[in-house]
Amino acid sequence: MATNYIFVTGGVASSLGKGIIAASLARLLKARGYSVTNQKLDPYINIDPGTLNPYEHGECYVTEDGAETDLDLGHYERFTGVATSQANNVTTGRIYKNVIEKERRGDFLGKTVQVIPHITNEIKDRITALGNTGKYEFVITEIGGTVGDIESYPFVEAVRQLKWALGSNCIVIHLTYIPYLAAAGELKTKPTQHSVKALQQQGVQPDIIVCRTEQPLTRSVRDKIGLFCNITGDCVIEDGDVSSIYEVPIKMRDEKLDVQVLKKLGVPVKNEIDLTKWEAFLYRLHNPEKEVNIGLVGKYVELPDAYKSINEAFIHAGAELRCKVKLRYINSEQLSEENLEEQMSGLTGILVAPGFGTRGIECKILAVRYARENKIPFLGICLGMQCAVVEFARNVLGYADAHSVEIAPTTTHPVINMMEEQKAISNMGGTMRLGAYPCHLKKDSRAYEIYGSEQISERHRHRYEFNNNYLEAFKAAGMTPTGINPDTGLVEIVEIADHPFFIGAQFHPEYKSTVMKPHPLFIAFVNAAMSFRSGK
Ligand code: GLN
Repeated sequence: MATNYIFVTGGVASSLGKGIIAASLARLLKARGYSVTNQKLDPYINIDPGTLNPYEHGECYVTEDGAETDLDLGHYERFTGVATSQANNVTTGRIYKNVIEKERRGDFLGKTVQVIPHITNEIKDRITALGNTGKYEFVITEIGGTVGDIESYPFVEAVRQLKWALGSNCIVIHLTYIPYLAAAGELKTKPTQHSVKALQQQGVQPDIIVCRTEQPLTRSVRDKIGLFCNITGDCVIEDGDVSSIYEVPIKMRDEKLDVQVLKKLGVPVKNEIDLTKWEAFLYRLHNPEKEVNIGLVGKYVELPDAYKSINEAFIHAGAELRCKVKLRYINSEQLSEENLEEQMSGLTGILVAPGFGTRGIECKILAVRYARENKIPFLGICLGMQCAVVEFARNVLGYADAHSVEIAPTTTHPVINMMEEQKAISNMGGTMRLGAYPCHLKKDSRAYEIYGSEQISERHRHRYEFNNNYLEAFKAAGMTPTGINPDTGLVEIVEIADHPFFIGAQFHPEYKSTVMKPHPLFIAFVNAAMSFRSGK
């Protein structure tokens, strides 16, 4: 079967959930036995979101091949279980960089380099490159931003050109918002009409319109949208409010989004859709038998999107255990010796989050000490693991000024250090240990017990590492490196055996947790939190 291209655009407002719709559609097509990949085109000029402050766009999601990408790629992987890569996230910055590099090399043979055709060709190449791998029957490409924005014009133009060239192998799904005016008691379709007009002005006719709405769409509203927007009423899909994003594939199945997509593409609607496992997950998610309170200590806690994958990993693990995980966000800048007891009260698990820079670091170290001393289940991720190492160095090994050189470059005990190779690189962007690295687990460790395997692979995003000069001192005092990179000898996991559950991971397990495959480390951590009984 020739590759089919599905574009998802958005209108009326941002944050309507294009990523969730794109991921849900992928889930449905996969459940019908098709091979699918999701792609995100971002209209900003940064080369990638790696250097963006999480306050701007939320978490930076890291793929197996080490690409720093938009958080929507996390949704794609969590919904479909299909690994993404650098090719799945392209920004305007990357497009222009490539075109300008080609121009400097003389590839355009002295021609004037223009948005059309050079930029649009580059965009089209990035889209069709996924189809050309021969691995996917469907490529679903989400166009970031809102139709009508100046910066998304070249992307929409590329969609127009592709739609023309690909004919029946290409469709456009437009996601809009239908406001409900309580005073008039009516759903209003006018903003949708306008946003579809904006799309049409750019030469693109949507094939399916998905409507975010807080009220059910009546037949007449559907028909009205269809009439004004050149589509039939059955291609107007209701996208109502749901209690969990994981309900959306079910909603879309009930609204027959996948069936309409297949019909429009002329693909036979074969195979019954099988969502039994997905529904079983939803059942467990909505019918918990227990509850735990876990503290998430981080500096971006006002913006939960900054910890998106961690949040979702807890949802997956919680559902697996029929346990509702209540996350208490603890602002690492507001934690002190004085309020520590109060802030931590009632928690049966403490997670110290990843992060960069000095802000809130001492409070994170304080939170680790509290978890270690009170034997509360602890999981430290990346910077969280580094904090655990620093805390142990200071309070158990007695190295009073121990620190990470990221924070204290002149410390006499650099227990977290920079590798020689990293030191050579001075640029901020793209200088980290990124993507999947193998890790070897010690057989008599909790980590091995949890993963059930000696060889694992996890994703990284950091510059600093455990300083192996201190390995013996840590081991002798009870903090054991139980996960080691087999190629470099770098420490990837530390544990304290004399503690109900104390694990620090230099990698990010949260990136690999999916609905169908909750991450074992999160399951084990939630499990430990469920069985923790305070001695106080
Ligand atoms: N800032 C730390 C480092 O670069 C940790 C990074 C992280 O938590 N992702 O090593």
